[in-house]
Amino acid sequence: SSLLDGKVAVISGAASLRGIGMATARMFAEQGAKIAILDLDGKAASDAAALIGPTHRGYACNVTDRAACQGAVERVLADFGQIDILINNAGITQPAKTVDIDPESWDRILDVNLRGVLYLSQAVIPHMQQRGQGSIACMSSVSAQRGGGILGGPHYSAAKAGVLGLAKAMARELGKDGIRVNCVTPGLIQTDINAGKISDDKKVEILAGIPLNRLGNVQDVAGAFLFLASDLSGYITGAVIDVNGGMLIH
Ligand code: NAD
Repeated sequence: SSLLDGKVAVISGAASLRGIGMATARMFAEQGAKIAILDLDGKAASDAAALIGPTHRGYACNVTDRAACQGAVERVLADFGQIDILINNAGITQPAKTVDIDPESWDRILDVNLRGVLYLSQAVIPHMQQRGQGSIACMSSVSAQRGGGILGGPHYSAAKAGVLGLAKAMARELGKDGIRVNCVTPGLIQTDINAGKISDDKKVEILAGIPLNRLGNVQDVAGAFLFLASDLSGYITGAVIDVNGGMLIH
C-alpha cells in the first residue's frame, strides 16, 4: 500500500510548475493522496491540479487574507469531505540590506511567509481537532537558522524564523488533539524563486559550502514533506528537518 492512501492534502503555493509545492503535490499523489492546490490564481491552481490527475483540484487563495483561507478550506471540505494534511508552502522572497527594508516590503514578506501560515492553519485546525488527527508541515528556510540563505534579506530570515516559533507553539498546543506540526528548512533549491538570480561564479562559491556538493532539487524537499505528512513520522512533532546538503550542520 502507499504512504498516503485515502488522505487529503492541502498544499499552498503549489501552482508554480517548477516549484516545491507542485513537486510535493505530485509526490503525495503518487502515494495515494488527493490534492487541493491553493494559490493566488485559481485558474493556475486548477491547471496544476489537472496536470497531476483528474481527482485533484485547485482553488484561488491568497494566504494573507484570512477570509480567503477560511473560504478555500470550506470549499475543499465540500469537495473532498476531509483534510488530513496541510502543507504551508506559499512564500515569497526579496534581497535587501537591513537599512533599505521599507515598511511595505517588511509587511509583504512577513505577511505571505508568516501571517499566511497562521491564517491557513487557523482555517484547518478546527476540522482536524474534530477528527482528532492531522499533520501540518510548514515551510521555513536555512535562512532562518544561519541569518540569511543566499538571496533573501533580513526580513525574509525574520519571517522564516517566525515560522519556526509559530509551528513549535502550535505543535505544543495541538498535540492533545492528535495534530502534529513540523517544519522543513531547505537550503538553496533550484526553482523559479531563484532562477537566473545566481551567477556561475557565485554558484561555485555556494557549492564550496555544501558538503553534498550540489544545489537542492524540488524532490529533495518534497521527500521531507512526505515523511512529515505520513504516519512514518507519527511520533514527531515540533521538529525541524534540514534539507540543505549539509550547508548548515548544527
Ligand atoms: P515558487 O516561487 O516556485 O513558489 C511559490 C508559490 O507561492 C507560487 O506558486 C506563488 O504563486 C505562491 N504564492 C506567493 N504568494 C502567495 C500568496 N499570498 N498566497 C498564496 N500563494 C502564494 O518558489 P519555491 O522555491 O517553490 O518556494 C516555495 C517555498 O519554499 C517558499 O515558502 C519559499 O520561501 C521556500 N523556500 C525556498 C527555497 C529555495 O531555495 N527555492 C529555500 C528555502 C525555502
